[in-house]
Amino acid sequence: MNRWLFLDSYIEITFCHKEKKCLLYNTLDSKKYIFRNKEYEIIKKIYYREYSIKYFENNENKRFSDLIENNFLGGIIESKEKPFIFYPLINIQRNLKKFKKLSYRNEGANILENLFELIIFINGKKRTLLHEILNLIRAAEYSSITKVNLIIENYFFLKTEINELILTINNKLHCLMVIKIKYDEYTDLISESTLKGIKNYSIIVIIENDNFNADIFNEKNIRFVFKIYNKIDYNHFVSNLQNKKIEYDFELDIANCNIDFLKENVFLNKADILKMKVTKQDYDANKTLNKYFFGKLVIKNNKIYNRETKGKLITKLDENKELKEIVFDALINSNKWFLIRDRVKPCKTCVFKYICPPISDYEIKASRYNFCNIIN
Ligand code: SF4
Repeated sequence: MNRWLFLDSYIEITFCHKEKKCLLYNTLDSKKYIFRNKEYEIIKKIYYREYSIKYFENNENKRFSDLIENNFLGGIIESKEKPFIFYPLINIQRNLKKFKKLSYRNEGANILENLFELIIFINGKKRTLLHEILNLIRAAEYSSITKVNLIIENYFFLKTEINELILTINNKLHCLMVIKIKYDEYTDLISESTLKGIKNYSIIVIIENDNFNADIFNEKNIRFVFKIYNKIDYNHFVSNLQNKKIEYDFELDIANCNIDFLKENVFLNKADILKMKVTKQDYDANKTLNKYFFGKLVIKNNKIYNRETKGKLITKLDENKELKEIVFDALINSNKWFLIRDRVKPCKTCVFKYICPPISDYEIKASRYNFCNIIN
């Protein structure tokens, strides 16, 4: 009979081979354990031998195996044969390989299952190709879209187009519509009758200075976003909002923000990361794709991109491509939907790379991926 030291299948392992270090993440209770040197070597062997190795007891091995057992990370089992552990294998986007083999880009009905969100910028800088946008929305009727964001920058001059868009989204897509608009255009938007017949929507009102009427805080379906540039702005809005029961966020102009302010208020500390609870599904997703970007198409200035910031051009609206082709191209060619921390420095060498939230537009804007005090 042999004795085998094994890790449980719900344990995820992330290595930093350069520093001879690894992280064991218990996906059941979200506890995290870092191992170094000799213990790292043992875990590496376990990992590469399908989650179990032969166990020979000595003082050192006993200390390690006790630690594994006492923290419910694994244990020791007696068996003649090597135990079979259903260790974690990623099986996300299994369709991707299949899609690559298709000869026609608009083939395969389930391509639209990969479309989750549309972000439509309406800024009036160019004549908006409304007809083409409406066609895309109609074509998305059987997609997996759960949210459409309308980012409105010039409501006053584009009222007719915007209201037609709102109605078509409401009629064709059973999803949440989020309208983001500046405070000075907001009153104009809600005074229109279009929104009154629509149920599944919310409005994000951007507030850049003190010049707003506090009464709107009592309106339903509204969230406020205060634009801030430094600690003074932040403190100012926080003290003004203290006794108000409202939902609000802050939006930072990262490129112009003071680095000390970011370090103090935005950067993740080790304690923040140790507190994070990431489901097994999210942990595995972080190994493969960017949940913030995946499945999103951005329509801006009559062009379609795969991402808001520094996105790759997928097509122009006047090329009249079918939605299936557009989603296919975003999926196969752009690979920005798959921008994960394992692909960027310095995160790729960090053991927290699958626990940290996915790379965000903020980080891309700032051309910096370590918004943390872990690796500088
Ligand atoms: S270096 Fe990257 S992966 Fe590591 S903690 Fe910082 S942000 Fe997260």
